[in-house]
Amino acid sequence: MDSVNGASGSSGSSSTQDSQSVSQAAQTAPTAAETRAQELDDELENNPQATAALAALTADPNYAQLSVEQQVQALDAFNAAPNLATATYLQGVAEQTLDPQATPTALTPDAGTLTLDGQTYDIRNGELIGADGQVAGSIRNDGQVQLAGETAPRSVYDDINTRVQLREADAAGQTRNLVDLHAADPNARLDSADLNRALTQRVESVISRARREGMDMRVTDTYRSVAEQNALYAQGRTAPGRIVTNATGGSSWHNYGLAADIAFNDARGQPSWPENGNWDRYGEIAVANGLEWGGNWRGITDRPHVEYHPGLGAGEARTMLPAYRQGGLQQVWNNLGL
Ligand SMILES: [Zn+2]
Repeated sequence: MDSVNGASGSSGSSSTQDSQSVSQAAQTAPTAAETRAQELDDELENNPQATAALAALTADPNYAQLSVEQQVQALDAFNAAPNLATATYLQGVAEQTLDPQATPTALTPDAGTLTLDGQTYDIRNGELIGADGQVAGSIRNDGQVQLAGETAPRSVYDDINTRVQLREADAAGQTRNLVDLHAADPNARLDSADLNRALTQRVESVISRARREGMDMRVTDTYRSVAEQNALYAQGRTAPGRIVTNATGGSSWHNYGLAADIAFNDARGQPSWPENGNWDRYGEIAVANGLEWGGNWRGITDRPHVEYHPGLGAGEARTMLPAYRQGGLQQVWNNLGL
């Protein structure tokens, strides 16, 4: 029964055998763990880094020796933060499960940095080293951090502004990033009073989930006044520059505090819009959180853009203008029941 586990990591290969192995397949029905792994692989299809991490976990020899129940537990734990750091941690857990005397190095990052609550720590073999050179706490590859003096661990993924870089050394002594996330809202744009909370809560959930999947995303643009929107519309038309929007003042949900633009962080923590970014996965997460995603629009798409206007269509923002002129943002939000 363990022999089938090796094949489960590369799910794509099974289809090539279908014609010759129908009877064999009937004899070896997939285990609950194989079914769960396939579900996760499908769910994470548009996040190649996450599916690679999943493949690394399921191909691990220690994982393959776990009971099916233990494998399902590992997969559920992986799904909480499906990235390479979690997969590495769970490989360590599998090793320790099989040999309780083992102290696997995979459980903790070898190197990296963490900035939490404004304090920056260097990471050395799972220890957090403060600016004074003293050990200030510990960190694991599943993102659990415990600072000295705190009674319970917390997750590096819970605050979207946590800077976390977890690095692991390979057999040759080279270190590689397991996870590398920068602050997602360094300019506190989501804290603006001109943004509706129903939108910001959803945007925070989207970014949080993307970060758990290893996607280093950030807010670039949120509220834009009608005057600012008109100035943006003029760009490339009656003013210098290239055209960046087709929406005049009052016809964008940005003007009502109900839209946000999200980009990726580059290696230095600066906004970037990489062509090979996992935009489709970001869009899936946004839609799962009840947002409309600009990447789904017909005609001109806007992949960074998400908006929230229950009951109305993307093109109906302009119908909010009378309410806005009458009672400002609050009147618009009242009319939408937000
Ligand atoms: Zn936008």
